[in-house]
Amino acid sequence: MAKIAMITGASAGIGEACAEIFAKNGYNLILSARRYGRLEKLSKRLSNDYGILIQIMEVDVQDKEDVINNWDKLPEEWRHVDVLINNAGLSLGLEPIYNGEIDDWDKMIDTNIKGLLYVSRMVIPGMKENKFGHIINIGSIAGKEVYPNGNVYCATKHAVDALSKSMRIDLLPYSVKVTVLHPGAVETEFSVVRFKGDAGRAKKVYEGFDPLLANDIADAAWYAVSRPQHVNINEMLIMPTSQANSVFFNKESN
Ligand code: NAP
Repeated sequence: MAKIAMITGASAGIGEACAEIFAKNGYNLILSARRYGRLEKLSKRLSNDYGILIQIMEVDVQDKEDVINNWDKLPEEWRHVDVLINNAGLSLGLEPIYNGEIDDWDKMIDTNIKGLLYVSRMVIPGMKENKFGHIINIGSIAGKEVYPNGNVYCATKHAVDALSKSMRIDLLPYSVKVTVLHPGAVETEFSVVRFKGDAGRAKKVYEGFDPLLANDIADAAWYAVSRPQHVNINEMLIMPTSQANSVFFNKESN
């Protein structure tokens, strides 16, 4: 069987772009997200275009039981994953700490930190057994610095950065590679989710400059995975040319 890549949050944005590039390179895929219809459509297209095998998983990574049950349902031969892309994640709201919605905080922590841990806990034992594997965690510029009103989202992405470093140490004896990708602004559904469906406000985030595209991050994931076995890319901080850090942009209107 061809190598297997498991991608969380494959129904949109960066996860969907990663699915495309790994499919193009002959990987069989496990694609997961909550929106099953989108996964089904993507899976049909990728298996037609690239002749690969795909398992789709309708899962909410916040829900430990859901993650475990879906993993247990996978056929045995699919449980030795070569590449895990921990991409499912979100930001909700952009409020100072004294105004933040506690439910939003819970969802970000449960998805970005706990969800990543639940999925990793399912996949890592197979990699350890094989003494082979590569985990790509999708962090953020928000995991390297903090920005006004980013508080809890930034904290979750700092946790992803810390977990990536920890994983690298714990998995060292088993030759499992760990890479964390930290993107700046990428135009996906991310801001529509952050602003709870307010497409107008979301669009403004990307006005006046060229943001990154989901494919730019998928390219970086593929670059990391396609290095020789003795090379690990520990991390990459990938920014639009017009973005210096999380607050300074070179926008046309400036
Ligand atoms: P996106 O277009 O909104 O995609 C997010 C993906 O995560 C969707 O497939 C969504 O699928 C999935 N997801 C969210 N909550 C989930 C849950 N509870 N269970 C399972 N899947 C869930 O956003 P994106 O920009 O591609 O984001 C991907 C990753 O990149 C995130 O970790 C984000 O924090 C990070 N990132 C994004 C940017 C940016 O500017 N866009 C910058 C830095 C880092 P369903 O809704 O179908 O479940």
